[in-house]
Amino acid sequence: SSRYLSDFEELHSLGHGGFGHVVLCKNKLDGRQYAVKKIRLKDKNLPVNERILREVATLSRLQHHHVVRYYQAWFETGITGPFGDTARGSITAVSSTFSFRDSSVSDNPGQENKSESTYLYIQMEYCPRTLRQVFESYDHFDKELAWHWFRQIVEGLAHIHGQGIIHRDLTPSNIFFDARNDIKIGDFGLAKFLKLEQLDQDSGFPTDTAGVSGDGAGVTGQVGTYFYTAPEIEQGWPKINEKADMYSLGVVFFELWHPFATAMERHIVLSDLKQKGELPQTWVAEFPEQALLLQRLMSSSSSERPSVTELLQNAFPPRMEYELLDSM
Ligand code: ATP
Ligand code: MG
Ligand code: MG
Repeated sequence: SSRYLSDFEELHSLGHGGFGHVVLCKNKLDGRQYAVKKIRLKDKNLPVNERILREVATLSRLQHHHVVRYYQAWFETGITGPFGDTARGSITAVSSTFSFRDSSVSDNPGQENKSESTYLYIQMEYCPRTLRQVFESYDHFDKELAWHWFRQIVEGLAHIHGQGIIHRDLTPSNIFFDARNDIKIGDFGLAKFLKLEQLDQDSGFPTDTAGVSGDGAGVTGQVGTYFYTAPEIEQGWPKINEKADMYSLGVVFFELWHPFATAMERHIVLSDLKQKGELPQTWVAEFPEQALLLQRLMSSSSSERPSVTELLQNAFPPRMEYELLDSM
């Protein structure tokens, strides 16, 4: 029967993206909260499922204080829970509407298979906030905090790159904060190979999620990730390397150092940066060193971008007192 339903209690939906639904759950065994991602797959497509599981296994190798922890992943067949596939816009009762059917106990075997899908479940560390949300209420700019968060992002990314993994979708929406307000990089890799593996995209998952994601952007990629995507990814180069993430990191770095008063201002400034490589003059005058670093990170030639290792060696001011205390 269902491991998901027996081990987890669904608390509420955390949102959905192009490929699945993320639900805040309480694990009945350890009493802790987790984010569980449910992804509906084209059913009976086993070679594909195995490949995806291998990729998820790769992600579970990542264990770092500044990377969202992936605990386990598994497949189930059937409709499991109210946040499964058709819950869009109508998430209400949690426990009263379970309609899980175990295919092995079907009393009408001839008709079961048609409507049954395979779901991939991924149990992750729950992160209550994203950097995008923090930016949206970023009224008090604090230089030390900007360095502090940037250092944590770079440390997490160094671990990811050290494992030979390229994130490919590093944006403020995919950079989270845990309950202690420490940075956790999440939501990586999957997007890429899920897209390649042809998920069942027209099967009940939203494809026009405008307004749903915290990005104000909607659908997977495109608008929401446009400002952060390295040119070589945009142009579809066959071989990209971890320097693609350094470009995205540059844009995140800029946002850390340049709060925006309105969404319109953000759009205009980031558009100029992306399309013309232009930075606000007043900002460059105020933060000349940051501007130089940003230009290197966003260089159109990936080999000119610094690596995470180089950043950790050279880019940071001496640690702040509270950071030293923190690491003791
Ligand atoms: P897409 O990946 O399709 O581009 P997305 O990133 O918004 O879009 P998901 O990755 O499915 O979609 O995430 C759906 C929602 O769940 C998002 O709002 C995201 O912030 C939230 N979420 C994802 N992982 C976690 C987590 N570990 N803890 C808390 N919330 C999470
Ligand atoms: Mg995301
Ligand atoms: Mg995602």
